Amino acid sequence: MMRLNDPITELKGIGEKTAIFYHKLNIFSIEDLIKHYPRDYEEWRDIVKIGELKENQVHAVRAMVISAPQTIHIRKNMSITTVRIKDDTGACDIIYFNMPYIKNNLQVGKQYIFRGRIVLKNHMITFDQPKIVSAQEFAQNVHRLTPIYPTTKGLTIAAITKIMHLAVDCLDWGQDYLPACVCQRYGLPELKSAVTGIHFPKNYIELTAARKRLVFEEFLFFILSIMILKDMTAQETNDAPMMRVAACQDLICKLPYKLTAAQRRVWEEIEQDMCSTRLMNRLVQGDVGSGKTIVAVLAILMCVMNHHQAAFMAPTEVLAKQHYESVLELVQNYQLPLKPVLLTGSLTAKEKRRAKENIVLGTGNVIIGTQALLQDDVDFHDLRLVITDEQHRFGVKQRETLALKGMQPHILVMSATPIPRTLALILYGDLDISVMDELPANRLPIKNCVVNTNYRQKAYEFIAKEVENGRQVYVICPMVEPNDEIMGDMPILENVVEYTEKLKKTLPETVCVEYLHGQMNPKAKNFIMEEFAAHRIDVLVSTTVIEVGINVPNATVMLVENAERFGLAQLHQLRGRVGRGKDQSYCILISSTTQNDTMERLQVLNRSNDGFFISSEDMRLRGPGDLFGIRQSGQFQFRLGDIYQDAKILQEAQNCAANLYDAYTHPEKYSREYQVFWEHYETNIASNVDFINI
Ligand code: ADP
Ligand code: MG
Repeated sequence: MMRLNDPITELKGIGEKTAIFYHKLNIFSIEDLIKHYPRDYEEWRDIVKIGELKENQVHAVRAMVISAPQTIHIRKNMSITTVRIKDDTGACDIIYFNMPYIKNNLQVGKQYIFRGRIVLKNHMITFDQPKIVSAQEFAQNVHRLTPIYPTTKGLTIAAITKIMHLAVDCLDWGQDYLPACVCQRYGLPELKSAVTGIHFPKNYIELTAARKRLVFEEFLFFILSIMILKDMTAQETNDAPMMRVAACQDLICKLPYKLTAAQRRVWEEIEQDMCSTRLMNRLVQGDVGSGKTIVAVLAILMCVMNHHQAAFMAPTEVLAKQHYESVLELVQNYQLPLKPVLLTGSLTAKEKRRAKENIVLGTGNVIIGTQALLQDDVDFHDLRLVITDEQHRFGVKQRETLALKGMQPHILVMSATPIPRTLALILYGDLDISVMDELPANRLPIKNCVVNTNYRQKAYEFIAKEVENGRQVYVICPMVEPNDEIMGDMPILENVVEYTEKLKKTLPETVCVEYLHGQMNPKAKNFIMEEFAAHRIDVLVSTTVIEVGINVPNATVMLVENAERFGLAQLHQLRGRVGRGKDQSYCILISSTTQNDTMERLQVLNRSNDGFFISSEDMRLRGPGDLFGIRQSGQFQFRLGDIYQDAKILQEAQNCAANLYDAYTHPEKYSREYQVFWEHYETNIASNVDFINI
């Protein structure tokens, strides 16, 4: 029997070598493994007729071989074998690469079941290397959901599936940590059946129930940690209130634009917080482009004029660098007394040493960087304000780290994730919330269109024209690299690497096309982003890494491939990367399915520019049936849960949390089951409470 925190090498079939592949997926323990949830499921559907085959889909047919397999050798190490098959509705070809021996398995005049993806070859419907499936195997798998796991080079879905079966079978499940009355009340299966059901569901009903339990649990632990955090921060007092300063009003007057009413209101709230006798713990929630950065700069200026240091943290180096540069520009334009210091991972050792010296001596008074700023060996002179931009809230651990260094700063969190108020109250329960619900008036609304793949050629012509006029373009694809696993009947997912090659060939030679994705190293990412910002790149093909915060006002086109794969809130974030300058901007969403409900959903973006409205419409339109495969992303990256589509579960978890928290503070009133729960929390969850970096 195995336990959750045993290393995966305990499993038969995972040796030291194989383990390395799993480590790449961040899987070290059995627990990590069973939390490696499928990203989708494949359903083996019924056999169809050859006459019904559709391009790009995975189909099974029962058909007779009518010609002896023909193999031709194209070049050394490359052969193609072609076989013709027919049923009573038509005939088609099958092709195999480098599998000449397949002819031994196929007899002319006999019937077989073939299952695989359909491609177009010379405009003819063709089976691309289908599996030959026995009647028995087909009967076993038809209508079953088989998991599709995220993989990495060297690990196939089949290999992960096999190991997962083994893990689920040999695990010692012990007593479920959720009290039975909780499971009963909220209709949740117990742990073992939930884990089995998420990996190997018999049907959608079982899958939905399994998923509900696991999502519920994710939310529950999150909410409880927030409750504990809130109790902690409620007791923090501010023993050195700041004074209002004239420099801020001065800067506001000198800016080339007038602050919106929302910006002014939020700024006042922040000013008040910093002057009060309690520490600030505030969230500023404002749609993309609502102008949060300048409000942050005002807070920084006030802090510095009060002779303290401020830190400004961003989730990526690219964004940190960008903030650093815009602060520098403000300093120069308005002679502000700010002395910004940039500290990021990709500085040289010498640069880092100098930056840290400036930070500890106080010669730098605005420290800009990634979250690493607050960890490691960085010592501050007198840090009194921490602003996190487009980032996660501040975790218990980070507070502790700072407290240990003798610092209790005001905390300001900036977020563009559109969340309806009811959800925000749950997810940000420990923070005061300011809403910036107004865009600067001078913006031209972005023009949107939702189209299918037939429109691509036109889109490319449009891109070429915009580039010729000196504008820049983003193209978003859902995948990084080609992925040749069969993925059910889903449309092909475009990938950044091949798409870039394709665009280079399609667009005029003078257009510079480059790509960016999350698996590149930080230096390479920075480099590409800087090149794009400096307009040495015209078209940037990227995954959604581009989604947070980037500000390149000269970019006017956002083209999203496989738009159906993204949640509306996420698409809205992506769209927010354009329309930041004076030029008319465009957002082109290419959908690979023409299903009505998908098109209708995407049309919401056409009708609205309001992130709050968009996210709630998305929730309403998708309904509970469409729980798998789409993620909204944004700041709340739970493993399974999605705050939008699982909003109802989130509410339930919130109700349940209140009850469990009472058991935490008054254990004597509750049964042993509740103690088991809190013991599990203390040993497995609390120690990871940096979770708040979800
Ligand atoms: P976000 O809220 O998405 O972080 P930014 O702070 O990056 O938005 O602001 C987007 C752009 O709008 C910047 O170029 C900024 O200078 C400009 N901006 C900010 N406030 C105003 C305003 N009141 N009027 C006009 N432009 C503004
Ligand atoms: Mg921003």
